[in-house]
Parts: sequence; C-alpha cells; structure tokens
Amino acid sequence: MTLQFDNSYARLPDRFYVRQAPVPVSRPALIRVNRPLAELLGIDPGWLESDEGVGVIAGNRVPDGAEPIATVYAGHQFGSWNPRLGDGRAILLGEVVGGDGERYDIQLKGSGITPFSRMGDGRAPLGPVLREYLVSEAMAALGIPTSRTLAAVTSGEDVYRETRLPGGVLVRVAKSHIRIGTLQYFASVDDLDGLELLVEHVIARHYPDVADADNPALALLERVVARQAALVASWQCVGFIHGVMNTDNMLLSGETIDYGPCAFMDAYDSAAVYSSIDHGGRYAYRNQPGIAQWNLACLAQTLLPLLDEDEKRATELAQAAIEAFPDLFYAAYFEGLQRKFGLTGAHDGDDTLMQDFLDLLQRTGSDFSLAFRRLGELVADRQEVTEVFDFADAFADWLERYRARCAQETDDAAARGARMLATNPAFIARNHLVEKAIAQGYDGDFEFFHRLNERLAKPFEFDLSDADLARPPAPDEVVQQTFCGT
Ligand code: AMP
Ligand code: MG
Repeated sequence: MTLQFDNSYARLPDRFYVRQAPVPVSRPALIRVNRPLAELLGIDPGWLESDEGVGVIAGNRVPDGAEPIATVYAGHQFGSWNPRLGDGRAILLGEVVGGDGERYDIQLKGSGITPFSRMGDGRAPLGPVLREYLVSEAMAALGIPTSRTLAAVTSGEDVYRETRLPGGVLVRVAKSHIRIGTLQYFASVDDLDGLELLVEHVIARHYPDVADADNPALALLERVVARQAALVASWQCVGFIHGVMNTDNMLLSGETIDYGPCAFMDAYDSAAVYSSIDHGGRYAYRNQPGIAQWNLACLAQTLLPLLDEDEKRATELAQAAIEAFPDLFYAAYFEGLQRKFGLTGAHDGDDTLMQDFLDLLQRTGSDFSLAFRRLGELVADRQEVTEVFDFADAFADWLERYRARCAQETDDAAARGARMLATNPAFIARNHLVEKAIAQGYDGDFEFFHRLNERLAKPFEFDLSDADLARPPAPDEVVQQTFCGT
C-alpha cells in the first residue's frame, strides 16, 4: 500500500517548520482504525490495521512520500502572549487528497519530542487520545466542521504526569493545521515575506475564490470571520464547550481543533465551564462567541501590513471586518436555534420564545440535548427519549406557547418533527461516558470505547438498547472538571 502524498506545506520555505521524524515507540498495539475515514482518504483500512499500518500510526515507520515536519506557531494562551509554541508533540507526516477532492493533513499526535517540545515529553497519555477520538468523531457525525481521528494505538510505553499512565498515539486528519497563531508567529518576528507566503498558501488551500479579490488579505479575513462565526454558532447549538480557545487552537480553515479539556453540557448552564485550568471561566459556554471575536481581532492585527499601505486605513478595514462578527454569529445562531425548534421564518417573538425555553432549562437544570430531542418528538408525535427524559411541570405554560407558535407553521408536522429529530441529537459525547471509556481503556479494555464510538457515529437515531448512552449522568456520575492531560 502506498499513500499518495502531496506535501504543499513542506514545500514552503524551511523557516515554517523543522524536519523531524516521529520517535518510535516500543510496543505499539492498535486500538481502532476509523474505516470510513480511511476510505475517504483513499487509504485501505485493512492495510492500516496490519502490522505495517500500525507501525505508521505509531510513528515507527515513515511511509514513502511522507515528509515529516513539526510546524512553528505562536499564540495567545488564556490571553497571554507566547512568542513560540509549535508542534511539541505532533508531527505532520504529509498531505493526501481525499476521494472528495479535498486536501487533508495526516498528523501524528503524541509522537515524541520535537524542537518545540519545551519542557514537554512529546507524548500523550492514553486518556486524551481516547477523548479526542470520541469527541472529534462525535462532532463530525453532528455535521460540525472539525479535525478528525483516523486511528489510535497504545504505545506500550508509560508517560509520567501526576501519575504514571499508559501512552498512546493518535492520527489526526484536518484540512490543514494552520492556526491564527501560525500567522501571529510570522507577524511577531517581522517576517513580512513569510506572512505573505502563508496568506497566499491559506487562500489557495481554503479560500481559492478570494485569490482574485481586490484586497485578498481583507477578503481572507472576512471569510475567516464568517467561518468562525458559523462554527461557534454550531458549537452553541449542541452545547459544546471547547475549553481552551487559545489563538493557537483556532484554525484558519474554520474546523474545530484541539480536543483537550472540552465537554458537552448535560444540564443547560450558560456559565458552564469544565476545564480544570480555566480558573476565571474565560472559555465558559456563554463566552465562546466573544472569545472567538477576540481571537479574530488578533488575526486582524497580524494582517494589518497586508490590508493597506496606509496604517490608519488598514486599521479601519480590520476593525470593520471584526465588528461584523457579532451580527454574523447571531444570524447563524438564530438560524441554528430555529432549526432546533423546527420554526421557519423569523416571526415576531421567536427570539423571546426560544430564550424563554433556554431560561427554563437553566432554572430547572434540564438536560440541554434531550430537552430539544423531546421537543422534536412532541412535534413528530413520537415517544422515545421519554424513557430517559421528559419535561418538568414548569414547562407547561411554555409548551402551550410553543404549540401556538407551531400552529403558524404551514408545513406538515410529521415532516417538521422528522427534521427536528435530524438536527437534535439523542446521543452526545457525554463527559461521564467519555470518562468511563477512558477508565476502562487504562485497564486495557476498549469494548466500551468501541461501543460509544459506534453509537456516536449515529447521533440522531434513537435506539432503546442504547438508552444508557442517551441518559444524563446520575448525580454521582456528573463530571465536574476535565483535564488537558497533556
Ligand atoms: P495545547 O494546550 O494542547 O494547545 O498545547 C500548547 C502547546 O504545548 C503546543 O505548542 C503543544 O505542542 C505543546 N505541548 C502540549 N503537550 C505537550 C507535550 N506533552 N510535550 C511537548 N509539547 C507539548
Ligand atoms: Mg493546541
């Protein structure tokens, strides 16, 4: 089996990366290959599962055509500037063009020390590997732009964090790994040529239609702003909390990346924050749109020299692009909510009706995902998640108002209900389930991990035999904190 690599990033000048082979591990063992994704990439899943394939996943074997590199970037972490980050525990093997015609990075994560590892060991404990596999694939199945997971192995080696933990390696796939922080790096070292080259590369790769714009850098900024607004709106609509929205964790392609201390909310709480390192709640659920805009302002700052020769004019252009964010976000969010509620056409009072529902969820501590799922079932005249969730009495008046509003819809209620059930998942990557898969994985048992992964691939199909994967956590199962675990 040969992979058809075409490594456009490795063709950029060598100050963009360091050539670095992955560091082999002693006894790699396969956990899982994502067969449908392998097929999309034109990689034979059977080969990936073979000894040779497992060697590639583990970083023990560099496939022909790969040009392994660790890329350089910088970034704002929790608002503080860090001038040099870079791939400290990841190696970009190269790029392949998928059956969909799209170009994809194939990256190993947990693959050993690089010149960017600083104090780190370049490795990943098994827990974060399993979490990223489950959550990134759950996000993909929800239709949210995201990096994907192609495969994961255990390394046969221990890593040392607070305790000794078995290690793992994950193969991450993304349309690119170019971050706001990548541009920030070149701007911060006054490498204007590098900045221009990178902008050209990003445009060619992700926004080819802006190449001919009068002001391509400005058009790029506007497009990234729009994609991030849509992305964060889609997070809000499924109750996803990223947890570490640093500028080095925001991709210019508009895909979700860096599944560290992320979590889906169970009970709705607009102030929810899970990350153990997010003390001030900077990255709380309700702050995500504002933080995205903050990060985009950092992006705009780096692009200033390319926006206009006149500094004042450049600043005005950047400002206008960034100020477009709140409206773009709100429009996408409102549209997403309308789909969740099965409402079409923005009628007067829709925003209040929808906000009142969220307020009720908050007040009653109701499960965010299942409440919407149940709403879809009411419209579709079905009774499925009632096994695990139903509305409290406090919803009676609101449900009356909702029925009255639904009566104004002109389409067939069954079709509308079906659409709602295709938009409101019954199954999300709940924290307590992810933790259970991780705990069992640390004991060498991946059965629950596989089961959960397969269930989350079909989040909109309720199945009573998987009711235990749909229900909210019991009080003693609620996970209060998530850890980066890097
Ligand atoms: P993250 O918090 O995952 O976004 O990572 C922030 C920075 O720390 C990046 O430059 C990573 O490459 C680096 N890093 C995280 N974990 C490790 C590790 N175990 N070894 C080396 N570098 C790491
Ligand atoms: Mg990161």
